Amino acid sequence: MTGPGGAPTARLLLTGDELLRGFIQDANSGFIAARLRDLGIELDSIRIVGDDYAAIEHELRLARDIDGVDLVVVTGGLGPTHDDRTSEAVATALGVALELREDALEVVESRVRAYGRMRTPEEVATFTPGNRKQATIPVGATWVDPLGTAPGYVVAAANERAVAVLPGPPAELRHAWSGIEASSQLLALQARVGERHERLVRLWGIPESRGSQVLVDLGHEDSPERRVTICARDGELEVAVRGSDVAAVDTLVEALCSSFDDAVFAVDDHRAVVDLVGELLRDRGWTLAFAESCTGGLLGAMVTELAGSSEWFLGSAVTYSNAAKVALVGVAEATLEAHGAVSEATAREMARGARVAFGADVAIAVTGIAGPGGGTPDKPVGTVHVAIATPEGEQHLPLRMPGNRAIVRRRSCAIALHALRRELSRPT
Ligand code: ATP
Repeated sequence: MTGPGGAPTARLLLTGDELLRGFIQDANSGFIAARLRDLGIELDSIRIVGDDYAAIEHELRLARDIDGVDLVVVTGGLGPTHDDRTSEAVATALGVALELREDALEVVESRVRAYGRMRTPEEVATFTPGNRKQATIPVGATWVDPLGTAPGYVVAAANERAVAVLPGPPAELRHAWSGIEASSQLLALQARVGERHERLVRLWGIPESRGSQVLVDLGHEDSPERRVTICARDGELEVAVRGSDVAAVDTLVEALCSSFDDAVFAVDDHRAVVDLVGELLRDRGWTLAFAESCTGGLLGAMVTELAGSSEWFLGSAVTYSNAAKVALVGVAEATLEAHGAVSEATAREMARGARVAFGADVAIAVTGIAGPGGGTPDKPVGTVHVAIATPEGEQHLPLRMPGNRAIVRRRSCAIALHALRRELSRPT
């Protein structure tokens, strides 16, 4: 099996009872999918099985015999206990033996000695069987330096195929992946990636249906030479165009940019909107502050996730109660009485007040009813007012959005940040 334009194909197999039983949410497949995409390897499917030897082996055999995928990535089940049986299943499915790798054992043991509290030699000795188990991998595998005590590895299979095995904990998996990517098995696979081209057009405020209609109007039809994927998230629409025909891909990207005009906010730029806002603020030498009511600090959290945001971000006042709106950002009691906390007037005063309170050049205020309670016929759940105050003036966005509390809060942040991005993108 090959992907569009003859690209090598991979399959991802996640293992773990905790995933199947809903105890944890998968945090690994997005990372692996994105890395494979960057390498030009097509992912044909993501499968999840429990900590079940037979199920893991069955999936591996399926991938090996029936579909003939070039790379299987397996995650989890590399721990020290008897129920971590991924390596055994891989060895059986590939028809190779397992062997204890002394070099890997040395590293695993040094990790055990280095981490956690100081342990007595007697305590360390109790780990030995588990350490040996983790250093026992299929014959011929290339193992990679682990972050914890589970070395990931990649092993070649017949017909230039490979199986890569990674520990389940997300930080360990990410660390192991960089070693796997540099392995000779993965490099050989990457060498088979033909000419390919991937572009990304990101739009704001365009519904998914309009996105696909424009593609129809432009006469686009998916083929291995040029394929389009549309993904909507929090009001953003991402149109990814990829394929082996570079000129055809570029032509469509240009046509999309002209059709959508100023709804296009980024081309071939994967950065989050908050990052784009940061860049625009830095360019102007401006600082930013928030007054947040229904978003309760979410905006502040989004900004501070970004390393280096201290350069332009001053702070966020979480003014949830009326009293906080008055005390922290100077909203007039009369305004609250006359218009209510969720109103244009209050939002504007919150934004002005946040500029003053933080001494910021720009402030965003968000006040709304995220639900499920608190709605009225006049102001139903999903009513949100966003105000933006800059040295050049004020802007107010009255919003009414569908969705539950989490969606209303998240969407309010996205809308506020995009509104500021638009404002800052205007030529000065
Ligand atoms: P360990 O040596 O820690 O046992 P392992 O390779 O055996 O590592 P698992 O036992 O399958 O991995 O998973 C260990 C923990 O890693 C899980 O309890 C879970 O917290 C986390 N984990 C595993 N898979 C995922 C995943 N897909 N998404 C998020 N977390 C995961």
